[in-house]
Amino acid sequence: MKIYLDNNATTIVDPYVFDEMEPFFVQKYGNPNSLHYFASETHAPLKEAMQKIYAGIHAPEEDSVVITSCATESNNWVFKSIYNEYVITGKKNHIIISEVEHPSIIATAKYLENLGCNVTYLPINHEGIIEADMVRDYITDKTALVSIMWANNETGAIFPVQEIGDICAEKDVLFHTDAVQAIGKTPVDVQSFNVDYLTMSAHKFHGPKGVGALYMKKGKELTPLLHGGSQMGGYRSGTLNVAGIVGMGKAMEQAIDALDFEMSDIRELRDHFEEELLKIPDTFVVTPREKRTPNTILISFRGIEGESMLWDLNRSGIAASTGSACASEDLESNPVMEAIGAEADLAHTAIRFSLSRYTTEEEIEFTLAVVKEAVDRLRGISSSYAYAPEGHESGLEAH
Ligand code: PLP
Repeated sequence: MKIYLDNNATTIVDPYVFDEMEPFFVQKYGNPNSLHYFASETHAPLKEAMQKIYAGIHAPEEDSVVITSCATESNNWVFKSIYNEYVITGKKNHIIISEVEHPSIIATAKYLENLGCNVTYLPINHEGIIEADMVRDYITDKTALVSIMWANNETGAIFPVQEIGDICAEKDVLFHTDAVQAIGKTPVDVQSFNVDYLTMSAHKFHGPKGVGALYMKKGKELTPLLHGGSQMGGYRSGTLNVAGIVGMGKAMEQAIDALDFEMSDIRELRDHFEEELLKIPDTFVVTPREKRTPNTILISFRGIEGESMLWDLNRSGIAASTGSACASEDLESNPVMEAIGAEADLAHTAIRFSLSRYTTEEEIEFTLAVVKEAVDRLRGISSSYAYAPEGHESGLEAH
């Protein structure tokens, strides 16, 4: 049996999405900007796909949704345009992010720091969540941008983006949110929230890889990062990825249709899985379940290197993650676990299981059995577990 529990890394393309994309490879392969039939037959499907993306995040027609190559591009675009617009011109020089943003935000912020921008990295609290009031405390008259993710990719923690958006609006500071892990898992509505920019990525909600988007509120449009042709209203040049856009539109429609299922049935399956995992002694979960996306568990098994657990799971056909995608060779600790102040030995033991609407009960029962067996085997050969002193404090609550 092959079991995929790494859906925060990427997801299977929904078969309906694949079907909609297929004609745009060998039949309807025209460049939409050309002046012939091959081009014009792509126009209606592109329009329909864009409408589905707008509808998925409740974006009004006057706002812009610009298709990019991925969320990494969307995030880079926001930061580098803000730098060009505010920092270089000397208007403002400060950006606020959380210390648990995705590397496409952290690395971009660090790059801009080297170019003279001031960046504040807000810490998370003991539940792995950013507190909105902290954003207020750090905003100054030099702050150009606040960028806080909607949901964290490691823990699934949902951040208070509504309150943060309100604070930014009140202080007249631009607000960007990386909603990559939120789409299809929690309602995303740019009209009821004060959001100026919002990042999406199709492959996280059963769409194709290599297609992302950036939402921009009317009046807050960014200068382009890629210059060239007039595609995407001149905001993002480059021949349109027709199949990708059609796929993203269908994936968004499917994700919105399946949202209730994710929030009830998948949540229930995740909760059952987690309750059973927490029956294993010396296991720890950071963020309370009700404050998380419905599909994610980041759990530590004291005494077991995350990579060792992954190895055992992989041998049984189960794909999970240590939650730190770049750490596979260096045995790095999980960044969120470090950020909440968990001891190094626990930060090394985090495993992320991320479910999807395709995950079945049978897969979860099988995984539970494999995890239990792996814990027995790995703790049996772990010197650190055997030598853990009595009453050893973890910095986390034990379950
Ligand atoms: N932001 C978050 C929160 C993510 O989880 C990811 C992917 O892991 C990205 C951005 C980057 O997405 P993409 O692969 O589309 O560049």
